[in-house]
Amino acid sequence: MKLRTKFSLLNSFLIIAVILGVSIFLFIAEKRLLIQEMEKNQTNIIKGLAQVGKESLITNDEILLINYVNLVERTRGVMYAMVTAPQGKILAHTDVNLLGTIANDTIAIKARSSNELVTQSYVDKGKQNIVDIALPIFINQNKTGIARIGFSRDSLHEIVEETLRETRRRIFGVAIVVLIIGFIGAIILAQMMTRPIKQMAKGAELIGQGKLDTTIVVKSNDELESLARDLNKMSSQLKEIDQMKSDFLASVTHELKSPLTSLIMYVDLFLQGAAGKLNEKAEKFLKIMERSSKRLSRFIDDLLDMAKIERGKMEIKKESLEILPIVSEIAELIKPQADEKDIEIAMNIPDNLPLVFVDGDRTRQIITNLLSNSVKFTPEKGKISIKIQDEKECLQLSLSDTGIGIPPEQIGKIFDKFEQVKEIRERVKGPRGTGLGLAIVKSLVEAQGGKIWVESEVDKGSTFYFTLPKQTT
Ligand code: ADP
Repeated sequence: MKLRTKFSLLNSFLIIAVILGVSIFLFIAEKRLLIQEMEKNQTNIIKGLAQVGKESLITNDEILLINYVNLVERTRGVMYAMVTAPQGKILAHTDVNLLGTIANDTIAIKARSSNELVTQSYVDKGKQNIVDIALPIFINQNKTGIARIGFSRDSLHEIVEETLRETRRRIFGVAIVVLIIGFIGAIILAQMMTRPIKQMAKGAELIGQGKLDTTIVVKSNDELESLARDLNKMSSQLKEIDQMKSDFLASVTHELKSPLTSLIMYVDLFLQGAAGKLNEKAEKFLKIMERSSKRLSRFIDDLLDMAKIERGKMEIKKESLEILPIVSEIAELIKPQADEKDIEIAMNIPDNLPLVFVDGDRTRQIITNLLSNSVKFTPEKGKISIKIQDEKECLQLSLSDTGIGIPPEQIGKIFDKFEQVKEIRERVKGPRGTGLGLAIVKSLVEAQGGKIWVESEVDKGSTFYFTLPKQTT
């Protein structure tokens, strides 16, 4: 999982947890507040009834009391209201039929002996949950009556639920808005945090690929910025060391090249009989010397080419050329090696190909290298096919062999310098090679504006493709 996704998920999870926590807390707090409010309200209503009861008892105004009791009944949640004498005789009741009767239920008995607010819950005949509240009425410290109200618990519950429903809707709305803002914020935050890490990872990858000119730019004003600075310092030190190594290699190989060239020349002169006729043994030894020194010379040429490429000093002199003669010339040149292993080289090249705009010598070097690799890595009685296809802006050349192939995990590496597939090297007879050929070929193809790639299957064969730019008119 990507670092950015991880950060976003973590932040989002935290946001959801916080919002959920806050919402639940708000909801519970609101519910508690509402219940407290309802209870306060009930106390106020009973206090109001007791007050009016007191006044009507003082003034003997029964009508006032009855009217007030009826008014109280209209309050939502009130099931009944009454005012009784201290011993239970009903003086006013929402049910007029009960006027004058004696209230003798448990709450009436409880209230009779209490000077405080009395509350009791019960289920009535209609299976309703009722909370009955009774408050004594005092005139000059004498208990002269009792005010009582029965509240329907279900209807109070309904009122609480209704209000809470609204609260829930409000909290949900706010939570959604905060959640959206939070998610966007989480993504932006994650992006801000992972950008410098990504830049560094990309830079480190490029440095790892040998692109030592890479500079990682991170301006985050924190530890990541100093880490990027350290990486840059490391890559510039690596570059210095790499440069020293290249310079050393270039001068050593250069120094080796001239004596080796004269060695090859003199061996050649000996073989041509310039120093008199050679006996069979001398000729055999000289031929071995010739082969070995030529191989060494090729290795030195490769090293010098690589050094030139790395210093950006490889000269490419482009000109308009016909590709067919070049391919045929090299196929002819390699043929003796192919014949030794009974390998057939087949060419499938259409007529009237357009001209290419390339460096002739470098193109020869590319094809020679690829073709001799094909011969080297193809067992006896194999086949090599050379094809050319006319593409839009380039000619695409392909060299297919029925050789030993390249394992998939190695395909990405074989164009790197000094890279050789171990299993292949062990299976192939003859000189071991240097692992520089394909690195040089790739640089030369790219320096001419082309591309190179390979498709391969172990024990079936490989096809190397490369493109050469066409001449533009
Ligand atoms: P060298 O041939 O000197 O080893 P190259 O750079 O030319 O170096 O090739 C690198 C490696 O790629 C070879 O060692 C071999 O493992 C692999 N390779 C190249 N061409 C082929 C091919 N046609 N078939 C199979 N493997 C190949």
